[in-house]
Amino acid sequence: MRYKSTRNSELRQEASEVIVKGISEEGGLFLPESIPDLSNELEDLAKLDYLSLAKRILALYLTDFTEEEISRCVDAAYTGGKFERDEPVQIKELGNSGTYMLELWHGPTCAFKDMALQLLPHLLTTALQKQNQAKKALILVATSGDTGKAALEGFRDVKDTEVIVFYPEDGVSPMQKLQMNTQEGDNVCVCAVKGNFDDTQTGIKTIFTDTEIKQQLYDNGYFFSSANSINWGRLLPQIVYYVYSYLELYRIGKVKNFTDPVNFIVPTGNFGNILAAFYAGRMGLPIHKLICASNANNVLADFISTGVYDKRREFYATASPSMDILVSSNLERLIYMLSGEDSAVLSEWMTGLSTEGQYKVDDETKSRIQALFYGDFCTDEETKQVIRNTYRDRGYLSDTHTAVALGVYDKYLEKTGDETPAVVVSTASPYKFARHVLGSLTDAVPQGEFDIVTGLEELTREVPQKQITDLKGKKQLFDTVIEKDEMSAFVKKQLARLKDHR
Ligand SMILES: *Cc1c(COP(=O)(O)O)cnc(C)c1O
Repeated sequence: MRYKSTRNSELRQEASEVIVKGISEEGGLFLPESIPDLSNELEDLAKLDYLSLAKRILALYLTDFTEEEISRCVDAAYTGGKFERDEPVQIKELGNSGTYMLELWHGPTCAFKDMALQLLPHLLTTALQKQNQAKKALILVATSGDTGKAALEGFRDVKDTEVIVFYPEDGVSPMQKLQMNTQEGDNVCVCAVKGNFDDTQTGIKTIFTDTEIKQQLYDNGYFFSSANSINWGRLLPQIVYYVYSYLELYRIGKVKNFTDPVNFIVPTGNFGNILAAFYAGRMGLPIHKLICASNANNVLADFISTGVYDKRREFYATASPSMDILVSSNLERLIYMLSGEDSAVLSEWMTGLSTEGQYKVDDETKSRIQALFYGDFCTDEETKQVIRNTYRDRGYLSDTHTAVALGVYDKYLEKTGDETPAVVVSTASPYKFARHVLGSLTDAVPQGEFDIVTGLEELTREVPQKQITDLKGKKQLFDTVIEKDEMSAFVKKQLARLKDHR
């Protein structure tokens, strides 16, 4: 199995190259040249535990990795007490509604990004060895919160890697800031930037294309890499839990035959998570609808209903910050696959997006999208109501991102009456966004972050994750704040330190 690019259909690269590079040279995203078919194997796969299933699925795509290498990566990611239980994900019925919650937040940072970012560092270091790269990887991350912490935890003390995380000083929640600034590990570094998320992302792009700094890095034995969600190595681990949850519905008798379809409802930002569901479908998992849930930044909902992607609109900072995004990068892969795999047409649309701020897909592509996807959104006010009602009526405490999915699913059911069994993807612990969650249940919200955690625990009797409560006693290890035009200088300074260090 080799990989091509959305903007160059002729290209062929090995899996290990694709994981090391992250993004293709001409700016396109890597994708497999064909998609393996699992439809005749589902019965066998239903006998596997999560880790064995992950190994089976990864092996289909990482064809230049040995079985032993894949096995070692998967074990390193999901065992050793990093996740609460042996099976890294948990599936729970929502009250007795017949709808199932796929909880992906039982890992080290309490958000779904752990599922991929615990695995990516091991895939990356293995890929580096395969390519005989004597260099070490310097990972730069711009984050609005969840990615930064998950990358820090994933890469901490992983051999031959260094991580620098930049976050907007006023653009992350106090809990997220605390999670990052107390990060332990010999190869990690965190820095706040005076600016918004876009400023930090632009700063990183500038560094990635700065030839002087790249040379300096190379001379010191490093090269830049990215842990961004467009890396195929982040998408691939996410396919596993869609297959796993379907098989779990089979094991409990909710799905009777391997032709019975399910719906997945996914709270969406950069379109990575829901794209993994799409891949699972292409691999033969019976899916009726993929329901794409957005917050007030509803550019995807508009796109799915009109075929026009228009980013020229107001940006809202919402209660579900990890979904506050106007350019959903991974959508490029979907559009490529559904529009006839023509890189010239795709490139034209993407150019339209960057020069005019919009593009429009043809009618045929639009109908193919609409045949599988349904998109809608919830405002913060609706999200709060969903948290309150879901807790009161179903006894389920949901975080703000997951609540957006639940709210959109309600709207979908009202419109369609669809009775297909459904899996709602639950992406964060309610304690990670405790201020908004408690505020949805009561007016009495204390000031301090840990008072809020205690308040939520007393009200709901749901036990907060140890990773959250432990933060209280942790020492703050990072407090650097820089101007947005100082990011290159900061990286250079870190380089000098690395040189002295080794
Ligand atoms: C990142 C994130 C999302 C959005 O996932 P995408 O793959 O970017 O669509 C949803 N919820 C939470 C809690 C997240 O951290």
